[in-house]
Amino acid sequence: MQSNPCKKPECDLCEKGSATHRGMVRANVSSFKVGPKRMEVKRDLKCSNYGIYIAVCKKCPNNKAAYVGQTGTTFTSRWTDGHMQAWNSVKEEAIKTHYKEKHQEIYKKNPVIAACYSVYFVEKPIHQNLSDRETYYMNKLKPYLINIQQPKPQ
Ligand SMILES: [Zn+2]
Ligand SMILES: [Zn+2]
Repeated sequence: MQSNPCKKPECDLCEKGSATHRGMVRANVSSFKVGPKRMEVKRDLKCSNYGIYIAVCKKCPNNKAAYVGQTGTTFTSRWTDGHMQAWNSVKEEAIKTHYKEKHQEIYKKNPVIAACYSVYFVEKPIHQNLSDRETYYMNKLKPYLINIQQPKPQ
């Protein structure tokens, strides 16, 4: 099972035009590391799917900072309408706040988001299980989590 960019020209998450987004969705990934934990990709997934995703900071040593998120629509819309829009605005948002607080020198230079995070699509549960699965990954990655909202107790 692999996480992949869709490479469609209209996709704002993985390909479109500017180098801003290119390279953020890594190709042919079947597993990746968050800190010492190896995470498996559970389905063949690309930007146009929905499900659980994990964004890993490119600057923290040993992949030890990650964001867990879910979307019921598409990964593309979650990123373009959510994280990327926040990245380029004054809005406070976990993915951005991590850079503001932990990588101040880089943050001051207004880096493109693709230079800061790698994104992996990990799983596509049925819609009603999205929040449970998100909580599962948040708990699993708790020491490395940059989410502002902490996982709900189970
Ligand atoms: Zn794409
Ligand atoms: Zn970091």
